[in-house]
Amino acid sequence: MTVPDKPRPQRTTPLGVLRSVSETEAADFASGSASVLEGSGLYRLLVDSVMDYAIFALDAGGNILSWNAGAQRLKGYTPDEIIGKHFTIFYPPEDVARGKTDIELEIATRDGRVEDEGWRVRKDGTRFWANVVITALRDSDGTLVGFAKVTRDLTERRAAEQALRLSEERFRTLVQGVRDYAIFMLDTQGRVASWNEGAQRINGYAAGEIMGRHFSTFYPAEDVAAGKTEMELEVAVRDGKYEEEGWRVRKDGSHFWAHVLITALRDFEGRLVGYAKVTRDLTERKAAQEREIADARRITEIETASRTKSEFLAAMSHELRTPINATLGYADLLEMEIAGPVTDQQREYLKRIRGSQQHLLRIVNDLLNYSRIEAGQVEYDITPFSLHDAVEAVLAMVEPLALAKGIFLKHGPCPDEIVAMADMGKTEQIVLNLLSNAVKFTPNGGRVTASCGTQDGVPCVTVSDTGPGIPAEHQHSIFQPFVQLGRSLTSGHEGTGLGLAISRDLARAMGGEITLRSGPGEGATFTLTLPPEA
Ligand code: ADP
Repeated sequence: MTVPDKPRPQRTTPLGVLRSVSETEAADFASGSASVLEGSGLYRLLVDSVMDYAIFALDAGGNILSWNAGAQRLKGYTPDEIIGKHFTIFYPPEDVARGKTDIELEIATRDGRVEDEGWRVRKDGTRFWANVVITALRDSDGTLVGFAKVTRDLTERRAAEQALRLSEERFRTLVQGVRDYAIFMLDTQGRVASWNEGAQRINGYAAGEIMGRHFSTFYPAEDVAAGKTEMELEVAVRDGKYEEEGWRVRKDGSHFWAHVLITALRDFEGRLVGYAKVTRDLTERKAAQEREIADARRITEIETASRTKSEFLAAMSHELRTPINATLGYADLLEMEIAGPVTDQQREYLKRIRGSQQHLLRIVNDLLNYSRIEAGQVEYDITPFSLHDAVEAVLAMVEPLALAKGIFLKHGPCPDEIVAMADMGKTEQIVLNLLSNAVKFTPNGGRVTASCGTQDGVPCVTVSDTGPGIPAEHQHSIFQPFVQLGRSLTSGHEGTGLGLAISRDLARAMGGEITLRSGPGEGATFTLTLPPEA
């Protein structure tokens, strides 16, 4: 049976680098004995050349015995300048006055070692933050022969640590103050480990109520029962994060629609240390989205209904024209006395029948036109044409009507070279409507003028009259279908209230527009603009 070595008392070596050296050698070095220093060339070289640590020996009274390259670099003194000086020279005067240096040597003597972090002073008077280890050196009899002192400059580390602490604090304050996001940490078991203002606002718990509780508290019971919370953590561990939108539960039991991101947190060695959880309350956004979808559906329904109505009107007015034309035809036959003689009285009645039928036919034609345009059934033959030709053709059509009413129909300026890129037939239909209206609404003896030109470089036709004009409050509505101003049984104006609606739809479909300038008693000026030739 072997007796295990009695554990030797642990000697604190002042330096990591010294640990690779034999203990006796270290002790010898530490003793500061000149013979050993001389005998151990390698060892001395090692210490001397260390640049990152000031390593030097003090005698029992604290006077400096040796000086290495690191010490010179750190403190600024050459060996000649410093050897023999007392080590208080490295301390700020206030520390010396407080007896700090004495205390350090006392502790090192008593305990074998003292460690301190604090301010030290360089030769040039500047201060640096140092880690200092002072080790008592004893000879083989245990007599104190001096101290080994190792100093490290931690200024940069301290600055970095402070910067880190500051940035962490700032970050924490930032996270704490965020109100729109719940940002909190879970430990590896999924228990709440931190809590911010947003979390309190969204989830309803105060930090004190929720810290340490499992995060399944925020999930509907059925999700917890289905193992959703475990699954989320598993995915976060596997993929780094887990993200979803889903229902969550507030403290008061109400549900909210949340966007959730769980991120696995790992330390430098890749070990899981917990999870970061960021939750956003999307309840309002979801409601808004649902409202939008519902609105869109309603609009589609309205559009479909309106199209169906237009298609129905188109079909119906088409069907109506056949019997109207038939009655007109039979009225003609009666008037021609093919079926026998007709009295003057009967002839007068036939004339009224024909007039009413023609009016009815115009109405039905307008309806058909309008519903076709609305149902998108109209085709446009877009070609360049001279507005002069279109205006002249329409003026010729309106001439008899104007003459009959005693209205002066004026051909305003309309140069040949004004060319529009549109459907000529449809353009004539619009101008005809504008001119007929002007003649219709202008009292006897008035004047109606048609001209063409350009407006801001765009070809246009202008129709103006000296009639009653249109009050500002009606200038918008007269373009709506079936709107007629001052309509009464006695007004004597025939119409459907569709003319301007049709005209504007046609103009817009061709890339143009109809605008109106009028005031009461000023007459009205309608302007049709059309795209120019490319
Ligand atoms: P309709 O001529 O069949 O009544 P329109 O849509 O062409 O239908 O015109 C709508 C209404 O706008 C007219 O009933 C009339 O009240 C008004 N209006 C149109 N043109 C003029 C005009 N030149 N002067 C005064 N009022 C007009």
